Amino acid sequence: MNREWLEKDFYKELGISSSATQDEIKKAYRKLARDLHPDKNPGDTKAEERFKAVSEAHAVLSDPEKRKEYDEARRLFASGGFGRGGYAPGGGYTGGGGFSNEFNLGDIFGGAAAGAGDGGLGDILGGLFNRGGTRTTSRPRRGSDVETETTLGFREAAQGVTVPLRMTSPSPCTTCHGSGAKPGTSPRVCPHCNGTGVISRNQGAFGFSEPCDDCRGTGSIIDDPCTDCHGTGIQNRTRTITVRIPPGVRDGQRIRLAGQGEAGLRGAPAGDLYVTVHVSQDKVFGRNGDDLTLVLPVSYSELVLGTTVSVPTLEGRVGVKVPPGTADGRTLRVRGRGVPKRGGGAGDLLVTVKVAVPQKLDDEATEALRRYAEAEKAGGFDPRAGWAGA
Ligand SMILES: [Zn+2]
Ligand SMILES: [Zn+2]
Repeated sequence: MNREWLEKDFYKELGISSSATQDEIKKAYRKLARDLHPDKNPGDTKAEERFKAVSEAHAVLSDPEKRKEYDEARRLFASGGFGRGGYAPGGGYTGGGGFSNEFNLGDIFGGAAAGAGDGGLGDILGGLFNRGGTRTTSRPRRGSDVETETTLGFREAAQGVTVPLRMTSPSPCTTCHGSGAKPGTSPRVCPHCNGTGVISRNQGAFGFSEPCDDCRGTGSIIDDPCTDCHGTGIQNRTRTITVRIPPGVRDGQRIRLAGQGEAGLRGAPAGDLYVTVHVSQDKVFGRNGDDLTLVLPVSYSELVLGTTVSVPTLEGRVGVKVPPGTADGRTLRVRGRGVPKRGGGAGDLLVTVKVAVPQKLDDEATEALRRYAEAEKAGGFDPRAGWAGA
């Protein structure tokens, strides 16, 4: 997508509203194209310009994919996120505020795998500004995000748990404390860019910024590099961090831990850590969102006569009342004994009753059951009454 699109109002160009249907777009374009066609307006440069503009507008809006991208970008543009700064083709940014730390420049323009999934802004802009253009590093670079995984037991995941995670990742060099300069020396401010890391120039309406060649965009020059980290300020280290996994986490869920990722270059902020959580199965419980599920084996007579059965929950046991005449397969709900919810409270425990049929009966029980079957029939019970297959 073309950067210039942002400044153009294609809807206005075609004289339609931004909610126009594809049909309305087509109609508006056809009429304008007919009126403005160069063959009809020989030598009229204004008409020719309008004709081109209208064609461009139509090319974008008639393509639902492009139109969506355009609308999205315009919305972001209008919301002021991009305020005063100008853009350079290929991904330069001239500064001028407007960006908070949440909108990391590297993520947006470099198309760097932020992987954060926090809103797709990077994706949109990455498409907009030709992903993979020159990366402008106007200040020490933020550390990369780190991905890792952990497997939790079912109950741990439901209730929340603190787990140690062992990770090998770049950390600030202990010898030079991340400065990249040999101990006893320090980096000096780059005289070429005065420490900003960027060289700016103006061309037309846009300000262009390029990374400073002398300091490779870092703003400082190291004359005497630290030998342990070769001037990068970073060492690979294995570390164990303790991570608090909140209650209620689901299998496959990804948790973000801000600032626990890779160290930034030369004192820049660290990246984030993303932990993908796998949850192992439980022998008793299943899960349905915040509800905890379990299957409770019962006998036929328990269903008919009713009973109270003790069942496990995440914390302690609870007595579940099975009312007389409960149908096999029915699910009974115990409120508030499910998985803790993020905002407080908990889901429910869903108990599904399932008849266990005895494979063997002793003579006494068999005799009693025969008598029962006769009494049942005499009492008028027909299990297939009202059955469509009868
Ligand atoms: Zn070092
Ligand atoms: Zn420089």
